[in-house]
Amino acid sequence: MTVKLETLMDRSEKNMGSGIHPVVKEAALEMVKRAYQEGIFVQISAGYRSMEEQAKLYGQGRLGYSYNGINYSDLSKPVVTNAMPGQSYHNYGLAIDYFIVSDDGKNALWTVDEKWRRAAAIGKSLGFTWGGDWSNFKDYPHLDMTGGLSYSQLKAGIKPILISKVNGTPPPVTQVESEVIDKDTPPKDSGNPTIKSIQKTLNSRYHVKIDVDGYYGQNTKKALIKGFQTELNKQYGAKLIVDGIWGPQTKAASPNVREGAKGNITYILQAALYMEGYYPHGMDGIFGSGTETAVKAFQRAARLSADGIAGEDTFAKLFG
Ligand SMILES: [Zn+2]
Repeated sequence: MTVKLETLMDRSEKNMGSGIHPVVKEAALEMVKRAYQEGIFVQISAGYRSMEEQAKLYGQGRLGYSYNGINYSDLSKPVVTNAMPGQSYHNYGLAIDYFIVSDDGKNALWTVDEKWRRAAAIGKSLGFTWGGDWSNFKDYPHLDMTGGLSYSQLKAGIKPILISKVNGTPPPVTQVESEVIDKDTPPKDSGNPTIKSIQKTLNSRYHVKIDVDGYYGQNTKKALIKGFQTELNKQYGAKLIVDGIWGPQTKAASPNVREGAKGNITYILQAALYMEGYYPHGMDGIFGSGTETAVKAFQRAARLSADGIAGEDTFAKLFG
């Protein structure tokens, strides 16, 4: 069953928190609504974040970090952000993060594809700046409205003047937003940890040098295909060019991978399924019942016969 707009709106509103700026909140919910009308299911995953919550995030993976006399160091987790309290527009209720959900509303899809970009475009038409447009570090889920204020101005208590564009009100011609925005490192607080670990594995196993950013973009897809081609050459004596491009030769060389299989090809299959929103219950390179269930679910969605065996047609749908 297709997820209801109401469900996406409720979840989004809850995730933004009560400290979100009313204009930001209105625009965010409007974005969810407009995207929904185009068949794109957007959910807002975050909004306002208090200084303490930011301190907690910043303390992850950092030794001896404290804020206001409280120790926030948590070495059991990896570093997730470079933004200290006050260095994120989330701390002022001016930023949101979003992702795309599967049609049934049950899975987050982290692929920065056409739908993802369309959602960003809708957000931009409503007055947001998109983190995917940043040149140094891209933060694809991130949208903010800063009113031209820097972190230090906001910290000093200056309130941004935000104008809602929800009812199509055009922005006034002269807006006072000529301030230069702080060149602080933007918050690096997004990205899916499982995808990051897949990217790390691909880098170390196949020397593909992709960004470990937690998103399934073109480079990560290419790296997965390169890994697949490398393994086909190694394990099956295929003579494929390892170029990361899915073509008829790679398709024809694809083996049938089924329950009981293990190794790097199974790992690549699990990773590709995960990227498409089908969780194989473990990224362990062992084809067990969880992987089989995920293969079947993917095959059904891709209109293939759902036999639970990943062969050339399944790989073609995953990589093509
Ligand atoms: Zn953000």
